[in-house]
Amino acid sequence: MADFPTSARVVIIGGGAVGASSLYHLAKAGWTDCVLLEKNELTAGSTWHAAGNVPTFSSSWSIMNMQRYSAQLYRGLGEAVDYPMNYHVTGSVRLGHSKERLQEFKRVVGMGRYQGMDLDILSPDEIRSRYPFLETHDLTGALYDPYDGDIDPAQLTQALAKGARQMGARIERFCPATGVRREGDEWVVETPKGEIRCEIVVNAAGYYAREVAKMFGRDLPMMVMSHQYLLFDTIPELESWSKGVGHKLPLLRDVDSSYYLRQEKYGFNLGPYENPCRAHWATPDDPMPEDFSFQLFPDDLERLEWHINDAMARVPLLGQANLTKVINGPIPYTPDGNPLIGPMPGVPNAFDACVFTFGICQAGGAGKVLAEWVTEGATEWDMWSCDPRRFTGFEDPEYCVAKGMEVYGHEYAIHFPHHVWPVGRGKKLSAVHDRTAALAAQFGPYNGWERALWYARPGDDVSEAAQRTWEREGPWFGAVREECLAVRDACGILDLPGFSRFRVSGAGTVAGLSAQITGRVPGVGRLGLAYFADGKGRIVTEMSVARIAEEEVLLITAATAQLHDKEWLLSTLPAGLTLVDETEAWSTQILTGPKAREVLVAAGCEADLAKGWLTFQTARIAGAEVALFRVSFAGELGWEIHSRVGDTARVWDAVMAAGAPLGLRPFGMFALNSLRVEKGYRAWKGDLSTDYTVLQGGLERFVDWAKPDFRGKAALEAEKQRGVTKRFVTLVVEAGECDPPYMSTLWHEGRVVGETTSGYYGHRVGKVVALGMLRADLAVPGTEVEVEIFGERCRAVVCEDAPLWDAKNERLRA
Ligand SMILES: Cc1cc2nc3c(=O)[nH]c(=O)nc-3n(C[C@H](O)[C@H](O)[C@H](O)COP(=O)(O)OP(=O)(O)OC[C@H]3O[C@@H](n4cnc5c(N)ncnc54)[C@H](O)[C@@H]3O)c2cc1C
Repeated sequence: MADFPTSARVVIIGGGAVGASSLYHLAKAGWTDCVLLEKNELTAGSTWHAAGNVPTFSSSWSIMNMQRYSAQLYRGLGEAVDYPMNYHVTGSVRLGHSKERLQEFKRVVGMGRYQGMDLDILSPDEIRSRYPFLETHDLTGALYDPYDGDIDPAQLTQALAKGARQMGARIERFCPATGVRREGDEWVVETPKGEIRCEIVVNAAGYYAREVAKMFGRDLPMMVMSHQYLLFDTIPELESWSKGVGHKLPLLRDVDSSYYLRQEKYGFNLGPYENPCRAHWATPDDPMPEDFSFQLFPDDLERLEWHINDAMARVPLLGQANLTKVINGPIPYTPDGNPLIGPMPGVPNAFDACVFTFGICQAGGAGKVLAEWVTEGATEWDMWSCDPRRFTGFEDPEYCVAKGMEVYGHEYAIHFPHHVWPVGRGKKLSAVHDRTAALAAQFGPYNGWERALWYARPGDDVSEAAQRTWEREGPWFGAVREECLAVRDACGILDLPGFSRFRVSGAGTVAGLSAQITGRVPGVGRLGLAYFADGKGRIVTEMSVARIAEEEVLLITAATAQLHDKEWLLSTLPAGLTLVDETEAWSTQILTGPKAREVLVAAGCEADLAKGWLTFQTARIAGAEVALFRVSFAGELGWEIHSRVGDTARVWDAVMAAGAPLGLRPFGMFALNSLRVEKGYRAWKGDLSTDYTVLQGGLERFVDWAKPDFRGKAALEAEKQRGVTKRFVTLVVEAGECDPPYMSTLWHEGRVVGETTSGYYGHRVGKVVALGMLRADLAVPGTEVEVEIFGERCRAVVCEDAPLWDAKNERLRA
């Protein structure tokens, strides 16, 4: 073992497509002192048997970014590293069976164009010109993706490995990582061939990632599915057609029937995502083997029968072919189907790049993202959709299996804005869940916490089927309107379990926090909004800050941000401060509307309710101590009522009883969304993300330039000097039946000039409101632009730089 590396900057565990791409991108970034450990031969996990489809399609902006990057990289990779590869860019045709599917396609076409890709919509007649062997009578149209294709996954991995080696990185095959330990600031990775000391470790162990994570004392939210594709032999008619036209058929995806069909030489490859489906290694009688390298599961054709028949009806040519081979392999899933790429929660200098369900088409982009995390501590694109910190620990194995099966069984399903997936529910319940449920709350999970989305009235359709629409006026619309108007005219109450809250205290708290936020830490007894920027001035997160005492603050943030924000605080605040996560101990209601004060008085609350906006105090309701925060995300007079969970039910009952004669009404998250867009209030990871700087986000009033320093200050000062290129705006949109979804493009004089980040109907103003980013020179009140909503350009007008509702915040301060 004379030349076995005993030290390295980074050790990557796992040599599939993703591990190899991570190594390649680290080396490309100049980090060549990196070692990849593979316990068998490269590709031994899921990679060797993958079908190798390389789509760019995604309805997620960030995943599309990754896949687009991959496809671009793969085009030039063979030549760049001198490793010939079978990469066929055949284009693809994605069939639509419904109006809603076509709308999804049109949205993706808009996003794709914004990313520089020329995706297109085909009419049923046009589909046959691309794919002559197809039955089209029941189709509404198709999406054509000219960049789609297929690659040999083993060759891809070898090419990335070769490229990485050429730059000086090392690969140790047949060398499993058997353990890791921390010594000082270093990791020691143990292998049968020796130990490697390193700064950073990356878990790229594919479906074995959970086993590797255990070495770090973590449990990973993942499970493993069995996934199959079927290979059919040569079809003479296809062979002569293909030879005649000189190319292959485009890849066909019949997404409403849940399969893909690809020309493989002169035959076909059929890959269904079936439902019911099969999980593996999830029960004691089906344990995960210690080593499954280059192995497959036994064929299981029975459960694919429906799809085989459906594909034969769609492409009758398939009926002429003989099935020659079945590939049934393991494929890992997280509970939401996206991979884990980014910092390992709670573990220093360690990263995840694992649990990829589409790891061939994503490997290129994933390697880039991983390398940025490692070398720069941040990524070019906001990658929250893949961030390991989006899972916070409640995802037990049963949950992971159930969610993984749900995602797999609906792999191609449309994700509608008001739809809630039914599996894995009820993981965390509010202290008043039984009460809100009795009021017909329709729930949706936020970091596992069930929150009311809306309250159904007698006769409202609460079926899951009714949620499957892009249209604004689903069955919730009337109820949400009543909820919003109750907040406007009387008072509403929103139960908000799971608000993340961190109490930070100790000498140096205020100075430490001040160095991390762009603005000022509020005075004792006061509240403020704090923005955390990264070194580039981009928006990392937003928290409410309550200054409890001279050197004690309470930081409150989104439920889903619990782990992300906690890690950010722990890694950036000075050592020596105490941070206590009080998320589970407290619960919150928003009580808001012009009669909120009267409701509190009627509930016997003896607080000083004249205290102004952005103050807080402790008081008692029904004998329980509560903290009253004078803020309202709904933009009316109001308070957040924070109570210990043991007291919450009592407090709720007292407020509800006192409020009933005053018109108090419970409201849900849909209403809150409507109310907050009218105020121009931003939501985290939609309007507020690392895709935008604090200045682009229109948050300069939260920047204290006079402070000697804060994270991101230099970058923001430089940006201000250069001139901010795009700016946050509120738009009133003349939309049709649908509100603009996230990342709808903004047009001006025939050019794309920005994008929406939120869009919803504002019931108080009676208009469709969009929040978004617009080219700076156009971000002027009164400018007319167009918003592309599902392919249709709708007129929109830029609003004044003030809330649409209650522009002077008089109602808020009442
Ligand atoms: C039938 C089938 C078809 C598929 N088709 C497609 C497709 O068309 N397009 C697509 O994008 N995706 C497809 N996939 C998914 C794709 O195969 C995976 O997402 C991808 O291969 C994951 O790559 P990876 O590098 O993350 O993991 P893997 O390829 O599983 O690599 C992980 C590696 O880690 C190694 N390892 C594990 N533990 C250790 C340890 N302790 N020490 C050292 N090494 C270790 C393993 O030996 C393995 O080589 C398909 C999957 C299946 C099952």
